[in-house]
Amino acid sequence: MDIQAELISIGNELLSGRTLNTHAQDLGGALSAIGLQLVRDTTIPDDIATIQSAAKEALDRTALIFISGGLGPTIDDITRDAVAGLLKQEIILDRPSVDAIAKRFELRGYPMTPAAERQALVLEGAAVLPNPAGCAPGQRFDLPDNQTLFVLPGPPHEFNAILDEEIIPWLKTRYAGARPKLVRIIKTKGIGESSIVTMLEDAEFDAGHIDLGFYPGMGKVEIRLTAHPDLATEVENAAATLRNLLAGHLDPEA
Ligand code: ATP
Repeated sequence: MDIQAELISIGNELLSGRTLNTHAQDLGGALSAIGLQLVRDTTIPDDIATIQSAAKEALDRTALIFISGGLGPTIDDITRDAVAGLLKQEIILDRPSVDAIAKRFELRGYPMTPAAERQALVLEGAAVLPNPAGCAPGQRFDLPDNQTLFVLPGPPHEFNAILDEEIIPWLKTRYAGARPKLVRIIKTKGIGESSIVTMLEDAEFDAGHIDLGFYPGMGKVEIRLTAHPDLATEVENAAATLRNLLAGHLDPEA
């Protein structure tokens, strides 16, 4: 089972360098852990036409699409309008979300405002995903051909809370047969990436169906072997061969 996902992060501040986009790391890690793959991460500005074209392109190629940001109460929060236009959906007020926002405000002693209530606007056909960490709920659209599109608020703690509490459990049930890939890590020290590659080429090392990744940094190189869960023996053999070839260069602190 190879289920692929894409993330579309919306926000001018993510492109101007003001805010580090953390959603790809969080989503990629959460999906890998349940055997699904984040295969693309697209960051785009707050612009309706750009959001629609990015979402349409993603829908043309991928089963799971996550769109984040732009669900707040301000004028630049246009994500729901963009998605509503693309999917030809009406926007409606979700009463349970209004109540949840009102409760949040009451607990903090703030007056409920029409602007705050706007965050409870959702697309008519969406399953509403409660937001335990903020106001705007997440939304899930079940589309034809087993495609699913999620819309999530931008603040990382809200994005992650809905992901952990609503989406990951749902995905685990939906893709119960998915298994995480096998990962083995070999850490070296005091040898450069190109020297490692030369040693492997000289030894005619063949990784077969295993993905090999090299991640250099600060005098160390991490070699990451990733493979389908059925390839346990191949991965162990390849890792053992690499350890032999690189003996003398293995990081003793690893
Ligand atoms: P809100 O209801 O709080 O306005 P929102 O869904 O409208 O949420 P944005 O307005 O796009 O989200 O962003 C809210 C905050 O979250 C901003 O400070 C923004 O920089 C941050 N944020 C948004 N997307 C990301 C991201 N991908 N990675 C890290 N921070 C993000």
